[in-house]
Amino acid sequence: MRKEFRTSAATEPERVAISKSTGIKVDWKDGHHSEYSLEYLRDECPCATCTGAHGTEPQRSSYGTPSPFQMYKPKLKMNSVEQVGRYAVRVYWNDGHNTGIYSFDHLREICTCEECRTARTASESGGRGSV
Ligand SMILES: [Zn+2]
Ligand SMILES: [Zn+2]
Repeated sequence: MRKEFRTSAATEPERVAISKSTGIKVDWKDGHHSEYSLEYLRDECPCATCTGAHGTEPQRSSYGTPSPFQMYKPKLKMNSVEQVGRYAVRVYWNDGHNTGIYSFDHLREICTCEECRTARTASESGGRGSV
């Protein structure tokens, strides 16, 4: 049921820098570098609730999407980050959410750099519809 982790250089972090107020930076073993803002990570939460994996409505928080209601949200922060095994981290958000386990595999997939975004857009043909 769980997809197996690919253990190639592209999904193995060489160095992970975690800042609870700004986000996560990863230097990958293949030399690639990724940076993830808190808002982006929260939006990309891979848990079943956020992705609607149980057939329920996705509970996307849309922290990364500007909305008229955004000003009412408390500033997003990570309360703590816990290493899960060798290949994932679990984030405890200050909004009480903590079921999202971010595998490095997933993190590499959602890399925000120009190169990766272009590659994703090309293969998804604009499926996400953001921006
Ligand atoms: Zn979630
Ligand atoms: Zn990238």
